[in-house]
Amino acid sequence: MLRGRALTARSAGIPLNLIKQDKCRKEGAPQSGSACIVPAQQLREFRRSQTLANWLYFRFREMNQLSIRNLRVSIAEQEIIRGLSLAVPKGEVHAIMGPNGSGKSTLAKVLAGHPDYQVTEGEVLMDGESILGLEPDERARKGLFLAFQYPSEIPGVTIANFLRAAVQARLPEGKDLEATEYYAKLYEKMELLGMDRSFTSRSVNEGFSGGEKKRTEILQLAMIEPNYAILDETDSGLDIDALKIVAHGVNAMRGPNIGILLITHYQRLLNYIVPDHVHVMVAGRIVRSGRKELALELEERGYDWTREESREMAIS
Ligand code: ADP
Ligand code: MG
Repeated sequence: MLRGRALTARSAGIPLNLIKQDKCRKEGAPQSGSACIVPAQQLREFRRSQTLANWLYFRFREMNQLSIRNLRVSIAEQEIIRGLSLAVPKGEVHAIMGPNGSGKSTLAKVLAGHPDYQVTEGEVLMDGESILGLEPDERARKGLFLAFQYPSEIPGVTIANFLRAAVQARLPEGKDLEATEYYAKLYEKMELLGMDRSFTSRSVNEGFSGGEKKRTEILQLAMIEPNYAILDETDSGLDIDALKIVAHGVNAMRGPNIGILLITHYQRLLNYIVPDHVHVMVAGRIVRSGRKELALELEERGYDWTREESREMAIS
């Protein structure tokens, strides 16, 4: 008779199919229903190896993602973000959709380190390191990029000089940006975004149309090559041709070394930049997450039903 105890998925804290496939079948342990019988010694070893494997797995994930945990943010005594959790791993594009006023831009600004917003609870980790105590420029140097919904004008600073300083800031200390290399890359990216070279000598965003501002934001993204990019309403103010060009620029950036968080009110952008995951944000919370099809559902049904879900979440 085998001395041991019944091991259920719940008691081991691991998925049942792992036990069935890796343990019951391999070890030939007797199985009954949702449990299998494992001798005490084997069970201890099994748990130890699972714990280590789980720890390594979660550590690896943590080191390669932007994670927001139970974030609460207020401004002027008003709570805007109310317990929001979200993880954007490198290699994935996540979209946040939601009605106006739900706190999407607030989230973007808080991640970038805007000083007006007060984080009252929760944490934000970038590659496993907390960033909430860092200044905006330190966050940027570590590889976080935010494209603003309403980009600022910087009179007197040309695009060429601005981008050069930004790219230089991302290089390791002591390494200088080579001018010919820089301009070659700048012109290549401008071409990708359908921007005329004369733009380089214009002051950042000064007198730019809405579309030109958005293209300039994406040009920054393409030049800086951050680890994580947050794009706030990159589609607003763009006609369909400009939207396609901007989407083309973002798609060209996609890859295993960057995690992208796209914030948008409309589904339209997501026809061109197809996200891996979609999250619906209402009244400062994520009320629903799903695959790209969720965006289509929102387009069809509007946002009213999500408000109902948000009320239910607030009550429960
Ligand atoms: P979204 O981007 O989803 O449209 P916002 O983050 O811009 O939403 O705004 C969410 C809420 O926070 C709104 O009710 C807005 O009025 C409020 N809010 C945002 N920024 C400020 C601010 N600087 N001062 C006061 N209220 C603000
Ligand atoms: Mg907004």
